[in-house]
This record gives sequence, C-alpha cells and structure tokens, in this order.
Amino acid sequence: MMTRFERISEHITIMHAEHETDRPILAVVKGADKTLLIDAGNSPKHAALFQSYLKQEGHPSPDYVVLTHWHWDHTFGLPAWNIPVIAQSGTSEMLRQLAGLEWSKETLRELEDKGIINDQSSSDITKEYSDVSGIRVIVPDLVFKEQLEIDLGGVICDVELVGGDHAADSCYVYVREDKTLFMGDALGPSIYGGPRYYTPGNFLALLTRMRQYEAEIFVESHGIPTEKSEFYRDIHRWEQFALFVAQHGDNTEMIKQEMTGYLNVDSLPNEFIQAMDYFMEGIRRQKDAL
Ligand SMILES: [Zn+2]
Repeated sequence: MMTRFERISEHITIMHAEHETDRPILAVVKGADKTLLIDAGNSPKHAALFQSYLKQEGHPSPDYVVLTHWHWDHTFGLPAWNIPVIAQSGTSEMLRQLAGLEWSKETLRELEDKGIINDQSSSDITKEYSDVSGIRVIVPDLVFKEQLEIDLGGVICDVELVGGDHAADSCYVYVREDKTLFMGDALGPSIYGGPRYYTPGNFLALLTRMRQYEAEIFVESHGIPTEKSEFYRDIHRWEQFALFVAQHGDNTEMIKQEMTGYLNVDSLPNEFIQAMDYFMEGIRRQKDAL
C-alpha cells in the first residue's frame, strides 16, 4: 500500500491524494524562514490529517497557504488552518460568492442547477461532510492577478495564473530550488457547467507554459508525483492527440486513424476514446461561440 505522506524533494512534503471523496494532494514547502502550504484540503477533517502528521514529525506548521484554484476539494479545508490565504483574483471572487451561502442539501442542488458544481462534487461533498451545514468558506486575504513570488528563505515559489478549460483561475506553483511544478488540476477538462470538454488551443497552451519551467518533478493534484521523463512521455501522447484534433476538427475518424498510427496500435486506447468526447464537446462550444 502507498504511504499517505511522502517527502518528495529536499524542501517538499506531501499528503497523497485520496479518491474516495476526491481529496487532492496537499503539500508543504519548507524554507529557512517560512513554510508554505499548497492547497487547503476538501474539509477541515482532511486538513487535520496533514496537520497531525506535520506535528508528529516536528515539521513547522505552515505560515500561509496558496490555492491552485477555487474548487471545493482544494479550498473547503481552509477553516482548519487559520493562516493567511493567498489566491488569484478569480479564485477569490468565486470563494467570496460561496462564502455568502447557508449550506444545506438544497444549496448543493441549487449550485448543481447553476452549473457551479456538478453531481459528482455534490455526492463527494455529502460523503465528506456528515453535516453539510458545517461547511464554511473562507475568502482569501492576499490576492494577485497574474503572478506572485513567495520567498520562504532560500526557497522561492513562483505562482502563476495559467487558466485553461478546467478552471479559469488555475495556477501553477513552481518551487525553484526543488525544480518541482505543482499543476493543480489545470490539465484536466472542464468539469462544471455542462458536459466535460477540452479545447485543443487551451490544452496546448498549458503544455507550452509547463515546458518553460525547467521542472524535474511534476505534481498533478489527483495523481502521483512524476519525474520528468515519465511525465513528458505521457504528456507527449496527449499533446499529439490535441494537435490531431486541432488539425482535423470534428473528423473523428481521421483523428482516430492518425492517433492509432502514431501509437502504433490497432484500436484507440480508452483514455483517448473518452478524451475524444471531451475534445468534440470543446469544438462544439468553440463553434457556438463564433
Ligand atoms: Zn479542480
């Protein structure tokens, strides 16, 4: 069994993702002077697990937290931390809207109807919280628009707005000294407000931005930290797929043919069959927007 906690580089310790109720990776970055938490957890209960581990290890508790994007699973753990919250302005705006709500099953249903969350989040929230009326949403204290540099003492973190389909406020957090890039959920498809989608342009732009860092370790919130050669190998296939979509539009037969040729396989692997649906939905939306 995988251990729940792991030191992945000189200054970084993480708590691994757990999929039962969609708990993302939480991380602390420890500098000589300050410690930064990356994402707050999906509930105070989730946060408390990481807190007690850090305490047990004699690891300094975080001085501030930075959010990768506003989604509930990354932010609803904030009340447990009671430290200054750093976030992109879009993240802050969304959390301010949610902070005004009284939480109940009815509230979840209304948010679903408005496309602000989806049925999956609703069911995960209900599983994570025995009583949803206990949800408290915190509004960030320190807000940036494009990018921010956080100096922890001998360790510098670059936070940068990258956007994309998954969430318009998605940020990358790059820990320079450890050459580690936290990507949040940025590479995922859009998940709220209708069928899931990818747009080739947005997806490719995220990859271009990713390559501009000289990262050696890549951390996606719901995955496992991956070293460069493996990450690039995997991402290259996705990039190729997005390029075929960009080239052939809604000609799925052609895309299928190109991709199976590229992978040198007889039939399209499942992950790309699903991605095809997401990309076709993205293309439909782009056409509608014109
Ligand atoms: Zn997300």
